[in-house]
Amino acid sequence: MRVTALAGGTGAAKLVRGLVASGVADLTVIVNTADDTEVWGLHVSPDLDTITYALAGRLDLERGWGRTDETFRCLETMAALEEPTWFALGDRDLATHLVRTRALRAGRPLSQVTAEIARRLGVRVGLSPMSDDPVRTRIRTPAGWLSFQEYFVREKARVEVLEVAYEGAADARPAPNVLTAIGDADAVVVCPSNPVTSIGPIVAIPPIAGALAATRATVVAVSPIIGGAAVSGPAGQLMAARGLPVSALGVARAYAPWLDALVLDGRDRGLAAELEAAGVRPVVGDILMTDRGSEAALARRVLGAVGVGRAR
Ligand code: GDP
Repeated sequence: MRVTALAGGTGAAKLVRGLVASGVADLTVIVNTADDTEVWGLHVSPDLDTITYALAGRLDLERGWGRTDETFRCLETMAALEEPTWFALGDRDLATHLVRTRALRAGRPLSQVTAEIARRLGVRVGLSPMSDDPVRTRIRTPAGWLSFQEYFVREKARVEVLEVAYEGAADARPAPNVLTAIGDADAVVVCPSNPVTSIGPIVAIPPIAGALAATRATVVAVSPIIGGAAVSGPAGQLMAARGLPVSALGVARAYAPWLDALVLDGRDRGLAAELEAAGVRPVVGDILMTDRGSEAALARRVLGAVGVGRAR
């Protein structure tokens, strides 16, 4: 089966690992880059790196970001030099940002650089940023507009969110193989990622939304919301700020025009009838991934939902 996944960071990393473990040989992962930022003059792509490290078996599982066996000597030294250190970069991780930044400054597109870094780390899965053009999530708070990392890391998502915008999305072109990967897939899997700041920017690129609506692939999402709250992170707050219910129904609404099926947790089975009424096939099961076994089990459940075909 040819599978294309849409991905953010931590939640997506677990499901993507599960898809590989459950035997999907032809997998392409399209990753959000609207959280990308510049730190110490280096181009950092947090979601791309989380997925790359996860697939390379080098993701720090406790933190959920950055590399295993990491040290922070450079960070300590930057602090001593009175440089900003609210965005922590590990020493091993820095190597990725150095390689990426040099290639980008030499004029190479992010998609090429991403594929090259993944290959060098031994990743065999197709990995692509959503776009080679810069798209940036901006968060409006009572104190003004923040970048996503200022909101999420520096302010620890503790500020009120008034508005979310995807700067550059309307004019961004999908990266070279993104539309083909969606159009030629048997299944498109929308990972359990933040619907507003991880999947939102990907589908805010108009040709990508068009490809999702037009593909013959079944489009299946996994809810990042269980029992009225996000498993982790600020998805609930951001969904509420966008006027979406913080539930599987809100996730379905965010993906409404092109979603066929939604995998939701057993605790939320009461929402199944309403989902069905909204035209989205509910698939109820355990959707919390706590180890490799539950990642693969959820991946199998997602793939099982594909056989049934498109709802529309
Ligand atoms: P980020 O860029 O690191 O925030 O990455 P994502 O957007 O991929 O991931 C965060 C989202 O994944 C949050 O909304 C979580 O609620 C969700 N999430 C994390 N772990 C799990 C899990 O085991 N199961 C499900 N269903 N969702 C999860």
